[in-house]
Amino acid sequence: MKTIQHWIGGTATAAGSTRTAAVHDPATGQQRAQVLLAGPADVDSAVAAASKAFASWGDSSLSQRVKVMFAFRELLVKHEDELARVISAEHGKVVDDARGEIVRGREVVEYACGIADALKGSFSDQVSRDVDVHNFRTPLGVVAGITPFNFPIMVPLWMHPIAIATGNTFVLKPSERDPSASALVAKLYAEAGLPDGVFNVVNGDKTAVDAILDHPDIAAVSFVGSTPIARYVHERGTAAGKRVQALGGAKNHAVVLPDADLEYAANHLTAAAFGSAGQRCMAISVGVAVGSAGDRLVEILERKAREVTVGPGSDPASDMGPVVTAAARDRVVDTVTDAAGQGATVVVDGRELTVAGHEDGFFVGPSLLDRVTTDMRAYREEIFGPVLVILRADTVDEAIGIINANPYGNGTAIFTGSGEAARRFQREVKVGMIGVNVPIPVPMSYYSFGGWKDSLIGDSPIHGPEGVRFYTRAKVVTTRWPDTGGHTAAFSFPTSS
Ligand code: NAD
Repeated sequence: MKTIQHWIGGTATAAGSTRTAAVHDPATGQQRAQVLLAGPADVDSAVAAASKAFASWGDSSLSQRVKVMFAFRELLVKHEDELARVISAEHGKVVDDARGEIVRGREVVEYACGIADALKGSFSDQVSRDVDVHNFRTPLGVVAGITPFNFPIMVPLWMHPIAIATGNTFVLKPSERDPSASALVAKLYAEAGLPDGVFNVVNGDKTAVDAILDHPDIAAVSFVGSTPIARYVHERGTAAGKRVQALGGAKNHAVVLPDADLEYAANHLTAAAFGSAGQRCMAISVGVAVGSAGDRLVEILERKAREVTVGPGSDPASDMGPVVTAAARDRVVDTVTDAAGQGATVVVDGRELTVAGHEDGFFVGPSLLDRVTTDMRAYREEIFGPVLVILRADTVDEAIGIINANPYGNGTAIFTGSGEAARRFQREVKVGMIGVNVPIPVPMSYYSFGGWKDSLIGDSPIHGPEGVRFYTRAKVVTTRWPDTGGHTAAFSFPTSS
């Protein structure tokens, strides 16, 4: 049985870990490896390695940091196939979908390659006689990332390239369900010339997370995962005096107006709801059909949901793989059963699906539920599986009201041919990331990613300019180089003259 180790100070190591967790192949249901679970002493070793490395990395030149980022980016391209297969084998998503997350994550590395520009300070000449002011940003020190299972490479890549390029050293605690991609990333950084200790990986569960949150030598924590854990991480981390960014769960609505191209909208809704078996924080899990769009939309969605090919992620013919665990599959089945009992129409039922030759895999088919209401569990909870629920609304304003009353505010989309409706929607909806005829509006790496309400605890979105701000601290310097005398120090509060 393969054991997935930590990566501390430039080497793969078990450190002092004795506990392990099973890592499964969701397509077969079989255990494929075990991963070490770090204790507080292992986290301490990683932080010590990162602190030691910070002494020189924090002082390294921009050119050196950017050079490493360019080399790392090339290695991500070179190893894309290997990474995609590793991700697919532990997460379950189809290999092409895994490639997609590698590409979107790599874009953050590309942003980090241009970090010199993002780090430029500003300069004000002659703010007072002989006085200039400039500012610059400095790294924080050792920072940590705690990441979810659903994007085992992309979400960590939202964090560490920017943290490292801005001069910090990093400790990553990836999801214990699919940890192998992070082990490979650590090797690629080493090959790219990153000094030992700048990037470290500790595998683990709550014990490792708590040790990170309490560690006095960690300055900041980035977290992405479910809302209850995001809230916990934010509270405990900030109580320990750290900067914390904490991105939580989602329930993303797509509003479809009668003037939309319904075939186009249904195509995108199908892919956004069932791609990656619905396990995306930007998945569309709720369709809000407005007015006369309803019946026709559901009819097309039904046809498309039935066309989705479900199979192992390694099979190029599969559109959708299994969900990540048996528990996740059971949660999906229970939620569909509940909704049916509460009066929803089960238009497509994925509960009974089996995949020939993969009877023990964690498969569940796409489900389409119509006439769902906001009091049903299928609407209220984040299902995080291949279930698309359809609500009906009479007007676009009613649709906006539904979205605004939902506690989550990660992403949303509107499908329409009306610029006026789209404009009103984007101005009034209380959601952080909005698509107009675009179903999964994940911002490019040079913008920042983050929802509103329960989808983002605290106020710091991730990557892009917000990422640079999060991983650095500003200094403002006021300088006077007087020509000769003539200046006297005043005891009154200084003003410009
Ligand atoms: P999760 O919250 O269960 O786990 C996230 C991380 O927290 C993991 O590293 C895990 O080991 C750790 N963790 C789990 N339980 C903990 C506990 N009790 N105490 C301390 N740490 C704990 O999330 P998940 O199931 O891995 O991922 C799916 C969730 O992540 C969904 O809710 C999804 O919406 C969300 N997500 C959000 C975004 C976003 O950008 N907002 C992106 C991806 C995923």
